Amino acid sequence: MAVCPSDGFVDRDMKNIEGYLFHSQEIILNCPLAESRGYEIPCLGMLDSDAWTTLMILAETKEIKILTGDCSSCEDKQAGVVSETILQEIIQLWPNHPQIIREVLPARENSYDSIDKNSTKITGNAGRVSLRQQGRDKLKALFPALEAEEVYPVPRTRQWLAQAIGRNSEKKVPYQALSAKESCTGCEICVKICPQGALNLVPKDGNKLLIYEPLKCVQCGRCVETCGPKALGFDYMSFSSRFLTGKILLIESEPKYCNQCGKQLFYHNETGLCIACASRNPDTISQMSEA
Ligand code: SF4
Ligand code: SF4
Repeated sequence: MAVCPSDGFVDRDMKNIEGYLFHSQEIILNCPLAESRGYEIPCLGMLDSDAWTTLMILAETKEIKILTGDCSSCEDKQAGVVSETILQEIIQLWPNHPQIIREVLPARENSYDSIDKNSTKITGNAGRVSLRQQGRDKLKALFPALEAEEVYPVPRTRQWLAQAIGRNSEKKVPYQALSAKESCTGCEICVKICPQGALNLVPKDGNKLLIYEPLKCVQCGRCVETCGPKALGFDYMSFSSRFLTGKILLIESEPKYCNQCGKQLFYHNETGLCIACASRNPDTISQMSEA
C-alpha cells in the first residue's frame, strides 16, 4: 500500500481511520504484531508519503504514537522498510519537523490470533495472513473492472494531506512533485499518457504552457519515463495547500516543426527534421543521433 501510487490496494477501513485521525484527541496506531493499544492498521507499510506528512502535520497539535511488533521477524518486513525510508526522506527535508513517537511493543502470546467475527476487522497473526488473502481476493474482484482508460480517484491519503494542510494556509511541507526543464518541446505525449488527467497543455501566443495538478498526480512516473527529451523529473519542494490543490505552470515551451513536412518535432535537434524526413537522408540521421 505504501508503494502503490493510486490506491490499487487499500484497506477497507481507510474511511474510519480518517475519522480517527482528525477527530481523536491523541492518535495511537498499532500494527497487528504490536500490543493492541490504539487503532489497528494492517502494517506500517500502509503509510505512504502523504500519510506520513499528514501525521506530522497533526502531530503539531496532538500526540501521535506508532506501535509496531518486531518488524525484523515479520514476513512482510520489506513493506515496513519502504515506509520507514519514505519517512526518513521527509524528516531530513523538514527542519524542526513535528515528532511522531514510534515504539516497538510486540504483542503478548495470548493476544495473537484473535478474530472478531462480528466485524471486518481482524487482529493478531491470523489477521496478517488473512489480510494477504483478502488482498488477493480483492484483486480478483477488481480485475474484471480494470480498463486502460480508467481514471483513478485522488488517493485517500492524498485527501488526508489536503485536509490537514488546508487547515493552515501558511503551512508548508516537503512534497515530491513534478518539475520540467527547458528541453520540453510541448509534444503533448505526457498529457496523453497521464492516467490521472494531471497534466494539460494550454496554447498561449504560439507557445504551449504545461500545467500540472499535484492533487491528481499519483506519481506513477509514466510521464517521466515517456518524455523523449527527458524534460520531466520529480523533486522534493516546499508545498503549501495552495500548491497542492491548485494548478502549477511547469514550463512554457515553443513548439518546433519539421522543416520539410511541418509535423511537430518531439525532440529539439539541429537538423530541424522529424525522424521520418531525416530517415530519407542518412547524413541527417547520424547528426540527430549525435545530438
Ligand atoms: S517534451 Fe516531455 S514534458 Fe514536454 S510535452 Fe513532451 S512529453 Fe511532456
Ligand atoms: S507521474 Fe506523470 S503520468 Fe503519473 S499521474 Fe503524475 S503527472 Fe500523470
